[in-house]
Amino acid sequence: MSRWEHRFRPWPIFVAMAFCAFEPSLSEDAPAPSIATLLVQTESLRTSNHPRFQRLLEVLHQQIPGMSAHERWQLRYLDAYQASFQGDYANAEIMLRDIMDHSADSILMTKAAAVLMNDMGSNKRYTEAFELANRLAADLPKTQDKLTRFLVLFYLSQLLKLAGQYDLAANYAHDMMQTLPAGETPCKPQAMLVHVFYDSHRLTLSMPELQHAIEICQNAGEPVIADSLWLIKASLYLDEGQPDKAIALLQRIAPGIHSNPNYYNTLDLRSELAQGYWKLGKDDQAHAAALDTLAAASPNDVNEELRDAYDVLYHVEKKQGNVAAALGYYEHAVAQNIGHLNDVSARTLAYDVAQQHMLAQKLETEKLSKQNNILRLQQTLAVKTIETGRLYIVLLLVVLGSVIIWLFRTKRAQLHFQRQARLDGLTGILNHQHFISEAQRHIRLMERKLGPACLIFIDLDYFKQINDTHGHAIGDTVLKHTVALCKQPLRASDLFGRLGGEEFGILLLDCTPGQGAAIADRIRTTIEATSIDAGERAITFSASIGLASTVTCGYDLQRLCRDADTALYRAKHIGRNCVIAHTGHDDRDSGLDAENVKAMS
Ligand code: GH3
Ligand code: MG
Ligand code: MG
Repeated sequence: MSRWEHRFRPWPIFVAMAFCAFEPSLSEDAPAPSIATLLVQTESLRTSNHPRFQRLLEVLHQQIPGMSAHERWQLRYLDAYQASFQGDYANAEIMLRDIMDHSADSILMTKAAAVLMNDMGSNKRYTEAFELANRLAADLPKTQDKLTRFLVLFYLSQLLKLAGQYDLAANYAHDMMQTLPAGETPCKPQAMLVHVFYDSHRLTLSMPELQHAIEICQNAGEPVIADSLWLIKASLYLDEGQPDKAIALLQRIAPGIHSNPNYYNTLDLRSELAQGYWKLGKDDQAHAAALDTLAAASPNDVNEELRDAYDVLYHVEKKQGNVAAALGYYEHAVAQNIGHLNDVSARTLAYDVAQQHMLAQKLETEKLSKQNNILRLQQTLAVKTIETGRLYIVLLLVVLGSVIIWLFRTKRAQLHFQRQARLDGLTGILNHQHFISEAQRHIRLMERKLGPACLIFIDLDYFKQINDTHGHAIGDTVLKHTVALCKQPLRASDLFGRLGGEEFGILLLDCTPGQGAAIADRIRTTIEATSIDAGERAITFSASIGLASTVTCGYDLQRLCRDADTALYRAKHIGRNCVIAHTGHDDRDSGLDAENVKAMS
């Protein structure tokens, strides 16, 4: 298939590509191998025994229905190789790219890329070849499969040699030697090193590497590679002014080259013979060998061997005075030289372009990664800002919550104290001051709607005696009981307060004097009927009640109080445990108006 790879000093493709060193013994009588075995065997034969490779490929195609997906990809790779071998690069590329993009088998993908790179080099698509080479070189550390690695290193070394990157090419050749796959010998890497030295004009006859590589390759059974090295040696003899030795060597290796035909070895042999004979003054033999070179070349080919052959023909014709023929050969020689130089500079340029692309991509990647870093930092910052914002909000809410709780508690305490301040500590009803102020407010409301209200003053009878007899605590109990009893007939709207000591006041709203007197008497009778358990004996007690009504006294609280007090006084006066309703009109001058006071009991 590809011929570019041995354009300058032949590198025999069918040997170079035979990267699986073992040759399986396939007997027609042997049991049919499995598909997997057949695939491996076919791949190993693809260049070393190409006719058999093609036969096995046909056998494999008949077994497609029984193949796994992975085996089909392997077959596709072999098909691509076959297309490439036949020079059908377009189809080969379609299949190779399919494998690279979709097979998901890293070994197969790498092999496909390597073959594609090689094909691109064959088609002078140097820029693409070098770009693929960059990718393959970058992936090399990941390429664990030794055979695949060996293949990639070989192609890379070859491609870099073409680009004039001799040190890199030598490095790859050294790498090949360090990881030889099973069945491989150091022949290929050693030969590659010699070719690199030769192309970079660093090889001399005195260097032992050349002879060493020849011996290795001969012992390894690699005659085509060995021949390419012999041809290098012959070329060195020519360069170093020993054409006789060159001719002797070339004549010695010629039969081998004829029996192992290789395009570039054949061209090289004939071209070097022409040069050797010319240098020895054997013009006819030089002329014949040069024409042999032209005859062996593919039409429209451009290479150094043809240039040298045309050069020899030019000199022979010129020497013989055939000016026209000499000029024709000279023009060919120049054209070949220009074509060759163009190709060299195209490869060098392509290599530089690919390197620049890689550098640009690297810079772009670095730029992108920096931008990504900035974006990441910005995102982190945004997240932090949000978090900080949230923290502030939480803090604010905590502070706000604390303030609300504090305000709530303060208010509750305030309300509690306010309520406490309005209530009597012992009985829990309104204290004197609050009772009066509330009574004042309600009386005004009643006045506005001209509703009736009654004010009742209650005073326990002989309470001092209870205290004295049973103790202050029992006295307190009596007071609390009295409050409970007084509440019984009251409505929620009525006001009830302790005026002091054992005296209580009740303001009955929307209450006529008759209703008021009835309520007052119910209170009195309830108290009278109540007895409190005080240890050994039960305590009974009574109350005197005075009543004043807005109906008789008007809506002046002071007067109502005075009249209720007067009525109470009268109740005491007439013997206690009774209710007196003040009915008088005005007792300020006449003192107590006994006529207007009605005893209820
Ligand atoms: P009268 O029938 O005339 O009203 O006689 P009285 O003993 O009830 O009248 P007095 O005003 O002389 O006595 C009232 C007593 O009430 C005097 C005082 O010790 C007692 N007292 C006042 N406040 C309290 C109190 O909160 N608890 C107790 N246990 N006694 C109180
Ligand atoms: Mg009293
Ligand atoms: Mg009393």
